[in-house]
Amino acid sequence: MKTCPRCESSIDDEASYCVDCGAPQTEAAAEELDEYVQRQAQQIAGDSGGGGDGFGDGSAGDDGDGFLSTEELTDREQLWRRGCYVAGYGTVVVALTLVPQIGAFPLILGGIAILPPVRRLTAEPLGSPLKREVMAGLYAVLVLIGAALLFLL
Ligand SMILES: [Zn+2]
Repeated sequence: MKTCPRCESSIDDEASYCVDCGAPQTEAAAEELDEYVQRQAQQIAGDSGGGGDGFGDGSAGDDGDGFLSTEELTDREQLWRRGCYVAGYGTVVVALTLVPQIGAFPLILGGIAILPPVRRLTAEPLGSPLKREVMAGLYAVLVLIGAALLFLL
């Protein structure tokens, strides 16, 4: 067994990367990682027109939870955001046509709550943005209340 120079956990003699912190343990592994990080940085720079810095020693950049899944996360994030916009605006527009009825108001609230900019606004008082599941749950509850009111009244 040898010790990782970065995080000091014990790792296998043959291991190319530290299992704990991912630091490369051989020249070849370091080069491989460098190339990988550079490719990722180029891709991100091409996608967003900026960034690419901050990829030092195998740690992730500012955007993304880890450099290994950056691409996948961005895709899912975009899909999610598009869905939220469609559902949110759709709900608000439909609700506005129902406005004299009391059930329209929970629908409008729910539609607004699910819009991505609102989720970002919640980051200020709370320290971190509300989870998507929370926003989706809030939306579902408000829409259910609105629909129930529309049917019952
Ligand atoms: Zn380590």
